[in-house]
Amino acid sequence: MQTSFTEAQLADPEIAVANDILRTCVHCGFCTATCPTFVTLGDELDSPRGRIYLIKDMLENNRPAGDEEVLHIDRCLSCLSCMTTCPSGVNYMHLVDHARVHIENTYKRPFTDRLLRNVLARILPYPKRMRLALGLARLGKPFGFLLAGQSMFLLRLRAMLNLAPAKLPPAQSLGGTVHKPAGETKGRVALLAGCAQQAIAPSINNATIALLNRLGIEVVIPAAAGCCGALVHHMGRHDEALAAARRNVAAWSAENLDAIIVNTSGCGTVLKDYGFLLRNDSMAAQAVAISAKTKDISEYLLKVYEPTQAAPEMTVAYHAACSLQHGQQITSAPKLLLRKAGFNVVEPKDAHLCCGSAGTYNIMQPEIAASLRRRKLDTLKAKAPDVIAAGNIGCLTQLAGDGVPTVHMVELLDWMAGGAKPAALLTRHSRESGNLL
Ligand code: SF4
Ligand code: SF4
Repeated sequence: MQTSFTEAQLADPEIAVANDILRTCVHCGFCTATCPTFVTLGDELDSPRGRIYLIKDMLENNRPAGDEEVLHIDRCLSCLSCMTTCPSGVNYMHLVDHARVHIENTYKRPFTDRLLRNVLARILPYPKRMRLALGLARLGKPFGFLLAGQSMFLLRLRAMLNLAPAKLPPAQSLGGTVHKPAGETKGRVALLAGCAQQAIAPSINNATIALLNRLGIEVVIPAAAGCCGALVHHMGRHDEALAAARRNVAAWSAENLDAIIVNTSGCGTVLKDYGFLLRNDSMAAQAVAISAKTKDISEYLLKVYEPTQAAPEMTVAYHAACSLQHGQQITSAPKLLLRKAGFNVVEPKDAHLCCGSAGTYNIMQPEIAASLRRRKLDTLKAKAPDVIAAGNIGCLTQLAGDGVPTVHMVELLDWMAGGAKPAALLTRHSRESGNLL
């Protein structure tokens, strides 16, 4: 694609990167067929190619973002399905990230929009605040009928209430802890404990630590490490994202680690991009090293996992989180591990399409997210699974509550290696199918 940035514009390193990306796009349109928003809405401006044109026009003309760009770029899930499909290697992720920063810096959103985004950015990255908010949302659930109405603000509030779990699990605070294996220590890793995950599903971190310990791996969670920054990064809050990245890079660089393990694939994609995010920073070299050491839990386990007991007869529908399959190009490891553990693994026919979770997307774009959720659940349930497994808490929350239990794949792997049976299966299968007990 031809671009027409001036020399002065190209002197800005961010514009120079955007220019290089734009020039790789040959506007073939292959990406449109696998874009969830284009598939759902059918509007070219809600396709990757359409968004690329909008971003190009906005940046070349050096103008503030307008309503049209914001509407269509906000609707993008950052699922990165388009990057998997694109034959020209267009780095849409870096382009849309830059567009979001441009929007944040040049566009004044409506008051309720700003309010909600600020609240989310101040709560979700902090597990204790998140837990408090979930508790309040639970109390507010019975009064959800008071939010009747179709304004986007009310739809978003209802979506927040709907996402609150019926019961809050025990509080988890892993910062500053070290978990040593009982026997010989064969390796040492840091675990990114996640923010929402600690509040919503602490069992995922517990299973990860227990499994790694059983395999002889020491697990550390440095107190100084925190949220990966993905949430604010995807809101275009560049400085906050950089601050989170710097803090984590410093915390992990101070430890002697074989790997940084991530069991929330949405966070893993951002960690693996720290090298790019901090490329102009004094910590650039450390950030590259941290990105290189970052491993999704399925990537890490692939060589070392061994089940110790026979699996029950059980069909697991594997839902591939976009951040794992498109963001990190990890497609086979989770399925190989689940099969090694002895489960019958099936996949939905639209495995490449997003479930609509996408960070805060299911709150900020509740209608599209609900449509994608329904579609994904229908194709998953068409495979008659006993359980739906994924490697990302956002997807698990999005797909929960429709009659099939959802568990993180590491909980299943831990179970078959001597760990506890996932709680989501205890309640359902003890009632409905004794064969799993
Ligand atoms: S598939 Fe790639 S090259 Fe083709 S229009 Fe989409 S982004 Fe551009
Ligand atoms: S990231 Fe996903 S939603 Fe956004 S343009 Fe690409 S395929 Fe479409």
